[in-house]
Amino acid sequence: MDARRRDGIGMTSQRTRERLARRLGDAGIRNVHVLNVIRQVPRHLFVDEALASRAYEDSSLPIGHGQTISQPFVVARMTEILIREGIPERILEIGTGSGYQAAVLAALVGQVHTIERIRALHERSRALFRQLGLSNIRQRLGDGHAGWASAGPFNAIILTAAPTVIPEPLLEQLAEGGELLAPVGDSQAQELRIYRRSGDTVVEEGVEAVSFVPMIAGTE
Ligand code: SAH
Repeated sequence: MDARRRDGIGMTSQRTRERLARRLGDAGIRNVHVLNVIRQVPRHLFVDEALASRAYEDSSLPIGHGQTISQPFVVARMTEILIREGIPERILEIGTGSGYQAAVLAALVGQVHTIERIRALHERSRALFRQLGLSNIRQRLGDGHAGWASAGPFNAIILTAAPTVIPEPLLEQLAEGGELLAPVGDSQAQELRIYRRSGDTVVEEGVEAVSFVPMIAGTE
């Protein structure tokens, strides 16, 4: 990729990224590793070129196919929660979308697995990961309800689309002490929740109200 496009100029420059990181810090993101990654990852490449100048605003943006790239604050917050007690070695994401959340995680953890149900998004993010040299992301086109059993168990699982109920296979693919972080609810009301595996039980904790696109069955 052209270095100018990768590094960004004007509204997509390093300086604009710095400003976003400062803003997230002011909004309550405390983890310096997370803020450093927000400074590094070129979010403008994960959105359509026509929206690149808005990539460092703290808002979600459309990525086509009725889907959105998550708001930077939410990406930072979820990442901060996942690494708060140490860096999980293996992580599974449901809902690759633009690939931004996966790229943020890939800068922090050993191995990221990510599943997307829409082929066009799956392929676009795959090309981008390759261009950016993110070789520790494995991707699959499929329905995240089934998880990725052959690659598990995972120390952390993150859902970036909201189910009304957590699919059982995902809880089964959590390693001992592992955590699943997910928005749960319908289009009216969702809550970000943490599910932690301890032996045969799973302990649940609510975090805060959020708004994500719904988790949908099947592929397209
Ligand atoms: N993590 C993404 C967020 C994209 S929005 C990012 O950083 O851009 C959520 C994504 O979840 C959408 O791309 C949507 O197609 C996908 N999704 C919804 N239901 C899914 C399912 N059952 N399996 C896999 N992906 C799903």
